[in-house]
Amino acid sequence: MPAYDDDNIFARILRGEIPCFKVYEDDRTFAFLDIMPRSKGHMLVIPKVKATGLTDIGADDLSYLMGVVQKLAPKLTDALGADGFMIQQFNGEAAGQTVFHLHFHIIPRWADVPLKP
Ligand code: ADP
Repeated sequence: MPAYDDDNIFARILRGEIPCFKVYEDDRTFAFLDIMPRSKGHMLVIPKVKATGLTDIGADDLSYLMGVVQKLAPKLTDALGADGFMIQQFNGEAAGQTVFHLHFHIIPRWADVPLKP
């Protein structure tokens, strides 16, 4: 994994330098809509601590972040009347990661709506 880059897009969103559609924020986490949604309501949840991926965040911060994902995912699903949700998380360029600040995708799914590429 590359070293954490303070100028990655999500670091800039956290600093308020780039606009986003904020959905949730507390003192340790931040959630906003994905700019290229794979389904309606596609959301990203990120920690405020600097972590490039799953392997360089402390257990306590990760546990807190997962608690927020667990809280937001069903709320989003219910609010949109979705049938379920997907959680995605990529580590490393080879795995498809394009923004090197740890993030969890919450992607609402409908039984009759295919996922966008
Ligand atoms: P991938 O790009 O393959 O989905 P990641 O898991 O690294 O890999 O996801 C980065 C996500 O960040 C993408 O879904 C992309 O659409 C989203 N994204 C990039 N820039 C912004 C932005 N300025 N605001 C919101 N979402 C963004």
